[in-house]
Amino acid sequence: MKLALIGTGLMGLPLSKKILEAGFELNVYNRTQSKAEPLKKFGAKVFSDVNQIIKESDTIILMLTDFDSITEVLFENNVNDYSGKTIIQMSTIAPEESKEIETRIKKLLGAYFEAPVLGSIKQIENGDLIVLLGGETELFRKYNNLFKSFSNKILEIGNVGNASAMKLALNQLIISETVAFSMSLGFVRENNLDIEQFMDIVRNSALYTPTFDKKLNNMVTRNFSNPNFPLKHLLKDLDLILGAFSEKQINTSSLKGARRNLLSAIEKGYGNQDYSALYNGIHLQKDET
Ligand code: NAP
Repeated sequence: MKLALIGTGLMGLPLSKKILEAGFELNVYNRTQSKAEPLKKFGAKVFSDVNQIIKESDTIILMLTDFDSITEVLFENNVNDYSGKTIIQMSTIAPEESKEIETRIKKLLGAYFEAPVLGSIKQIENGDLIVLLGGETELFRKYNNLFKSFSNKILEIGNVGNASAMKLALNQLIISETVAFSMSLGFVRENNLDIEQFMDIVRNSALYTPTFDKKLNNMVTRNFSNPNFPLKHLLKDLDLILGAFSEKQINTSSLKGARRNLLSAIEKGYGNQDYSALYNGIHLQKDET
């Protein structure tokens, strides 16, 4: 297997390290090459030309931002024959987008499946990332050892599109839970109630979700630096969710309000900070209206 990973950003970098540490040979490419360079010392071959890495590899993992970046990498180049190549697409994109990429890759004689993930950098490092597989079973089963290098939770969801749909269903919870917690926490603080007492009640009730504790300190201190998952990507996912859910008879009006909260935090300059900065779009400070 001539394996490549394209997109060594927040997720692609630790993913590449785990793959290399498991003993695989790995070609890597990142548009901003400096972000791929640290992988040299782990044994990766760093490419500066996207055409070259695609031509020299037969299994290509994509960990890019979105549909546009994926189609740019795959189709706006001088590669027009994907025969013998398999594309493993790991970003969060819409089900219909994933199906479109599959169709286009198949037309160019290649194979495609999707493998979006739940979890972030720490989960990759601990091998706890949840990988959702969508595609033909016989295609992804041969990559079992590859996936095991960074995940002990590899789930077969169905055809191409189904894993992306499952991922959007999960990310909708991230958004709604963060909004719900931000509002109550903000209200508790505005009323000078005891935060620890509030948390204690929540922790010992059916309302609790661990993400509340994970994000509590960020919200209380309003410090959202060193993101694992930046707020701007949550906006991207929210827009995917609004599109995909509305097509399926789900009333998304509450999410439209969440989008306004999220945009307000981005307008305040938190787009590149941790997604829990959504709090600042909800619990306003004294000088804000
Ligand atoms: P990231 O750090 O922003 O990385 C995005 C990568 O895409 C970078 O390598 C970037 O290259 C590349 N890219 C963007 N546009 C491009 C283009 N037009 N041509 C070529 N390369 C391009 O994002 P991330 O956090 O790793 O997330 C990657 C995907 O995983 C996203 O779909 C995200 O929603 C999903 N995800 C993230 C997390 C998380 O916790 N971070 C968790 C689950 C799923 P440059 O470096 O040159 O900009």
